[in-house]
This record gives sequence, C-alpha cells and structure tokens, in this order.
Amino acid sequence: MDCIFCKVVNKEIPSSMLYEDDEIVVIKDIEPKAPVHLLIIPKKHIPSLNQLEPEDKELIGKLVLVGKEMAKNQGVNESGYRLTFNVGKDSGQTINHLHLHLLGGRKLIFA
Ligand code: AMP
Ligand code: ZN
Repeated sequence: MDCIFCKVVNKEIPSSMLYEDDEIVVIKDIEPKAPVHLLIIPKKHIPSLNQLEPEDKELIGKLVLVGKEMAKNQGVNESGYRLTFNVGKDSGQTINHLHLHLLGGRKLIFA
C-alpha cells in the first residue's frame, strides 16, 4: 500500500523511532511544530478516526497511554502538552494513516 506511515512502520523509509511494540511506533515529526513533536502511530492501517471501529477500542486507549508516557519521557508532563488527532481536510490532516500528535515544550495556542 502506498502509505507513508505503513512504510515507516515497516521500516521501508527511515525515521527517528523512539518507541516500538507489537502494535505501536513513536517517531519524531520530520517538521516539528514545537520543541517536542512526536507522532504515536498504530501499526494497523486505519485512515482516520472516522474509520475507527469498536474493535479498535483497546488500541486507541493504548495510543493515549503511550502518548502520556512519551510526554513524561520527553520531560513535558509537568510543563504541559497536547495530544491531537487531525481528522480530514479542515483539520489539516495530510497523511491518511491514523496518528496522534504529541506537542510540547512551548506555550501552545489553539489555531
Ligand atoms: P497530519 O497533518 O495530522 O496528517 O500530520 C502529518 C505529520 O506527519 C506532519 O506533522 C508531518 O510533518 C509529519 N510527517 C510527514 N512525513 C513524515 C515522515 N516521513 N516522518 C516523520 N514525520 C512525517
Ligand atoms: Zn498506512
């Protein structure tokens, strides 16, 4: 499948991978929008939250828990951070493989 994040997951294209388990990888965003900008990506190809199914309940919970742990690992758990899913064109979603953004290390304003 011609999907950038499937290629990242399968290590067909290089990335800065900070965490991997059987269901999830965490990489550094290639164009960071904050001092800490990681992407928590399920290995399963789900295009966006719009295609999330009840069977994905544990996986989506695990993404959030890994996001929380990575915030601690990156030292922003006390200063604060944001976990964000972009969904569709108005959100600015550019890659149609579900991913959770972890942003931190600066004051974050909503846009
Ligand atoms: P979104 O707008 O939610 O689809 O976010 C996609 C994010 O993936 C953007 O912040 C991009 O900078 C980032 N990105 C695109 N290609 C790569 C890549 N090969 N490795 C790491 N991050 C990437
Ligand atoms: Zn994919």
